[in-house]
Amino acid sequence: MRFRRSVLGNSEQKVYDLVIVGSGCAGLTAALYAARAGLKTVVLEKEVIGGQISLTATVENYPGFKEISGPELMRLFQEQAEAAGAEIQTAEVSAIEDLGDRKLVKTSSGDLEARAVIIATGSSPRQLGVKGEKELIGKGVAFCALCDGPIFTGKDVAVVGGGNSATKEAIYLTKMVNKVYLIHRRDKLRAEKSWQEKAFRNEKIEFIFDTVVEEVVGRDRLEKLVLKNLKTGKLSELRVDGVFIYIGLKPNTDFVNVKKNPNGTILTDECMRTSVPGIFAAGDCRDKCMRQIVTCVGEGATAAIQAYEYVEELRGKKT
Ligand code: NAP
Repeated sequence: MRFRRSVLGNSEQKVYDLVIVGSGCAGLTAALYAARAGLKTVVLEKEVIGGQISLTATVENYPGFKEISGPELMRLFQEQAEAAGAEIQTAEVSAIEDLGDRKLVKTSSGDLEARAVIIATGSSPRQLGVKGEKELIGKGVAFCALCDGPIFTGKDVAVVGGGNSATKEAIYLTKMVNKVYLIHRRDKLRAEKSWQEKAFRNEKIEFIFDTVVEEVVGRDRLEKLVLKNLKTGKLSELRVDGVFIYIGLKPNTDFVNVKKNPNGTILTDECMRTSVPGIFAAGDCRDKCMRQIVTCVGEGATAAIQAYEYVEELRGKKT
């Protein structure tokens, strides 16, 4: 995981052709295309460069790489974007003011001015919202197998969810833990077939279907989960040292004032234009049906080229 020291932390307001908010696969692809097109481009990242993929153990469906670790893939994305001339800085964006032909990007390290902005902030893991969960985050409750898995080497853990993330990360955890209980609220996983097959073949994974977590219990550390079988209503206890929650994602879009769906995903047209001219969106923060690296990459490239054309048009107006 790579972090950058901020260089935005002075009072001087910096002016860019393009500010990209978020350094996941959509943001870094947009940075590559924009920099290669000659736009003065900066990517702002508040946490980990590479976004959610940097927290993913294995990627097996990005063409050209039969199998590659998430952090390694995103390191390659970053290297290529920087080699093309894009800057990457650490800063948290709190708001974007639309001043017509200019956008004021308000950040934790000072304000920036941009002709165009691409929102590529992705999404963050959802929480269960049950008793005890919040209090035990970092004390047994976790959201990233790659980051926290080694803490549970040789121990028993649970994974909650039935999607690609829960299934893939449960398989990853079996490399280090003693046993993984995969707890899902329905009787079927929704993960891709190939991941399901791998999970069903894995002797360290025990499936607990039709079941939800009612409570997360522990004093200083997680001790057990209280489970409820949704078919019978029966409550039971499961003693585990860790629980990894993979029940979907929440888009990181609160700071931006463009048209969104009620769930917070940003509405765009097929050219990644939002409801505000000069503001584009790409990746998992967007309203769409496929959340894959390949789709994010395509959207990042599209947004960058559209931003380039937008900036060129602004320049044309001035001459
Ligand atoms: P997801 O596909 O939305 O799956 C979330 C899972 O959590 C579902 O099985 C859902 O149950 C369950 N769930 C939701 N709320 C719950 C609650 N309150 N309590 C218990 N269970 C709950 O989320 P994801 O797996 O994080 O994936 C997000 C997106 O990234 C998806 O589009 C996915 O395809 C993509 N992704 C792709 C890959 C890949 O390698 N291709 C890897 C990771 C993620 P139900 O099934 O009953 O709805």
